[in-house]
Amino acid sequence: MPNILIIEDEEKISRFVELELSHEGYGTGKAMDGRAGLEEALTGKYDLVILDIMLPELSGIEVLRRLRRESNVPVILLTARDSVTDKVTGLDMGANDYITKPFAIEELLARIRVILRNAEAAGEEREKKPAADVLEAGGIALNPESHLVTYRGEPVELTNREFILLRILLENRGTVMSREKLLSEAWGYDYYGETNIIDVYVRYIRQKTSDDVIRTIRGVGYMIE
Ligand code: CA
Repeated sequence: MPNILIIEDEEKISRFVELELSHEGYGTGKAMDGRAGLEEALTGKYDLVILDIMLPELSGIEVLRRLRRESNVPVILLTARDSVTDKVTGLDMGANDYITKPFAIEELLARIRVILRNAEAAGEEREKKPAADVLEAGGIALNPESHLVTYRGEPVELTNREFILLRILLENRGTVMSREKLLSEAWGYDYYGETNIIDVYVRYIRQKTSDDVIRTIRGVGYMIE
């Protein structure tokens, strides 16, 4: 059965939803604030996330924004009745659906079923499609769709962030990419001013492949030839 993560700080709601979901046979996980919820959602253990908008630490919208940089896991937002802006923003940011509090559990369960069914159908559709164009350079091969990365034919295990960074460098091969540009393309402007985080990830990628894969362009940034 699918696993569902509930990110909600109101314990009464969270416990109630969890109980109903387990009763339906779903696996469940819980997080009580935005930061913990984002971390948990990024583990990849879940098939669907129920995300409250009003959360401590990080708002639901912010959780969604960060989650969408790395994951396409379906998200249902829990919103307050009168907050049209939240709904619109949420859907713009890639939420799959929303439900207004207070809600009937049957309605939530019905929406979960629809989303999971669509996700499954989309997955089957993807399997039928021919393989995506593999990006290759300097012995590295990266498949943007399957996320499979190899170096000289050997599989390489990359974290999500390393993968995204490598993908951007490969997509722009032959072009020197500044740290600022890499940061904004890979993660938005969240870490603005801390461009040395790019150096750290480049080092990780080199350790997992070879020093020759990514060239350092002194005082500018990085490139793959
Ligand atoms: Ca809340």
